[in-house]
Amino acid sequence: MKKDITTSILEDWLENVRPYAYDGQVANYIPALARQNPEELGVAIHYIDGNRVHAGEVDATFTLQSISKVISLALALMDNGEEYVFDRVGMEPTGDPFHSIYRLEQIPSKPLNPMINAGALAVTNMIHGDTPDEKVGRLLSFVHELTDDHSIGYDKEVAFSEFETAFLNRSLLYYMKQHQIVTGSVEETLDAYTKQCAIELNVCQLARIGALFANEGKDLDSGRRIIPKHLARICKTFMVTCGMYDASGSFAIKVGIPAKSGVSGSVMASLNGFGGIAVYGPSLDEKGNSVVGLKLLELLSNRYDLSIF
Ligand code: GLU
Repeated sequence: MKKDITTSILEDWLENVRPYAYDGQVANYIPALARQNPEELGVAIHYIDGNRVHAGEVDATFTLQSISKVISLALALMDNGEEYVFDRVGMEPTGDPFHSIYRLEQIPSKPLNPMINAGALAVTNMIHGDTPDEKVGRLLSFVHELTDDHSIGYDKEVAFSEFETAFLNRSLLYYMKQHQIVTGSVEETLDAYTKQCAIELNVCQLARIGALFANEGKDLDSGRRIIPKHLARICKTFMVTCGMYDASGSFAIKVGIPAKSGVSGSVMASLNGFGGIAVYGPSLDEKGNSVVGLKLLELLSNRYDLSIF
């Protein structure tokens, strides 16, 4: 039944949600993101058996933004182990906006989870590498393995644009430096983080990453293990509890698929036994989630009974 989602069905669903393309607003707090075109919509499904279907502007590229937090978490866990990572970053969801600072002041003064900015910045700080470029190089190599595509890089303009204007993320890092949650240079960690967020791909590449997580961390073609199963599970659990910002609860009820969204308007969903779904639609609702992405995932989940609950 689930595999009945063909390209032509996806095309129909995408047309159904197209009228919502202007319902929200394109992110503009990172100047370079404000230039995204709200009409550029795309969706792809990568099944764990390797079959793929897609519709819309599948060649349109976007930056990963917060979706990169799942990937950096997997790498930081592989680099450092669970104990080290979760000594510095918590496991609990928050109902706060992604860039909120005020909970850092509460005891223990560590970020509540790795999907909010404070937690993600701390995670990037933990990725092995002596320089920002070494960290980003390792992250990119990891993305190349996940996508089986070595051409993927990061958008320098978006990275620079965010680096220049990331005053709140700088504040989070300085606060965490004061409390010994992060080490080394704040500016270098921010440099690595903004480049990580600017990693650029399309919906087909993103759906493959979702599928690899759904395949419990194993490569979809060779079966080679790329992420240990228990670490892939940790990442998917965070996607359920805090992947959709402070709308994660309603998303769990309406859609019920582990998913992570980013302010570029992209969403990566990962469903065990099924595969990965990626949607791109730059217009965001007030919580920072793609309006079209949410609509489309809700329709698909309801029609094909995809909820894990
Ligand atoms: N680079 C963005 C930031 O840190 C990512 C935010 C997001 O996608 O939620 O503000």
